[in-house]
Amino acid sequence: MNVIDSKRIWLSSPHMGGSEQNYVKEAFETNWVAPLGPNVDGFEKDLEGYLGGESHVAALGSGTAALHLGLKLLGVSQGDEVLCQSMTFAASANPIVYLGAKPVFIDSERETWNLCPEQLEIAIKDRISKGIKPKAIVAVHLYGMPYNVEAVHSIASEYKIPVLEDSAEALGSSYHGVKCGTFGDISILSFNGNKIITTSGGGALVTKNKDVKQKTIFLATQARDNAPHYEHSEIGYNYRMSNITAGIGRGQMEVLDTHVGYRRRNFDFYKNHLESSSEIKFLEEPTGMFSNRWLSCIETTSYELREEIRLSLAEVNIESRPLWKPMHQQPVFADCAAYLNGVSADLFDRGLCLPSGSNLEEDDLKKVVSIIKNVLR
Ligand SMILES: *Cc1c(COP(=O)(O)O)cnc(C)c1O
Repeated sequence: MNVIDSKRIWLSSPHMGGSEQNYVKEAFETNWVAPLGPNVDGFEKDLEGYLGGESHVAALGSGTAALHLGLKLLGVSQGDEVLCQSMTFAASANPIVYLGAKPVFIDSERETWNLCPEQLEIAIKDRISKGIKPKAIVAVHLYGMPYNVEAVHSIASEYKIPVLEDSAEALGSSYHGVKCGTFGDISILSFNGNKIITTSGGGALVTKNKDVKQKTIFLATQARDNAPHYEHSEIGYNYRMSNITAGIGRGQMEVLDTHVGYRRRNFDFYKNHLESSSEIKFLEEPTGMFSNRWLSCIETTSYELREEIRLSLAEVNIESRPLWKPMHQQPVFADCAAYLNGVSADLFDRGLCLPSGSNLEEDDLKKVVSIIKNVLR
């Protein structure tokens, strides 16, 4: 196996702030090496303070685990249908299937690349007319760009369908000054290795309801009833975050806003140097939206140009990646219903994610830009 090549320019690699090891060391010194302890409590408090607005946070083993418990707590079960943004990472949709429910995919709008409110309402009306009212909506802030919160939530409340806000890519983003991760009936975060901050692997469920937080922790720790022996009246999970990884999270919280700044700097650099080309387009922030620019993405004019850029970057050891392939185009979801307008399929054809880590140097960014400019010439 190759050791990590230090010269490779990665799409998004972990970026430690410096104090992570102190929290981890303290966990060892005090023997809190378990899926509970002061770092777990501390990390949850840090996140609650950061998100504001009476958020209660339960730290879990992954964002996927948070989605699974979140959907369960919203009442999703066997035979239900759940509306889900098609253009996303598979982890937004997989937990729907874990619960025996069926995803129904909704296409994107051009303005944010997220849930198209028009298609969302068409889908709700159509599913209701077919006799199945959707049990929940999974809405995603893709690449850190907020979805159209006002439109999506007003449709959701009109039809009384709860929203699971997938904010895995959007910690540090906001909508009209309010932090992403606080809009859903339940919201989730991810701290996977490539995300805006990382605990090496981890996630969190966010709720405004203290009891929902307690219930989440109960389910995430094997649903043990209050008794001296092990008593169970419900099926539980082993989904709690460990006190070791939570220590990494506490250190990462100290540098979150700085790292968002670096990610936004990457985006601005690419934009300033490439936007004069008629063959490259950037996703602007609509009024009131603040993106953490988790990944800097470009839209090219054709599939062929996108591939030429991607392969030219790969040749000099620079990682880039096509945009998320929509779920309605994935073989595993081939038999799921979908409400489409062509936007996500088109973006997948022509779009590319560029190296976006908060640890990139200006020389790295310059190198990426010069390779792309060479292709355009
Ligand atoms: C990363 C991610 C997840 C899953 O988070 P994990 O912590 O990797 O399980 C869910 N949804 C989206 C949109 C993601 O990008």
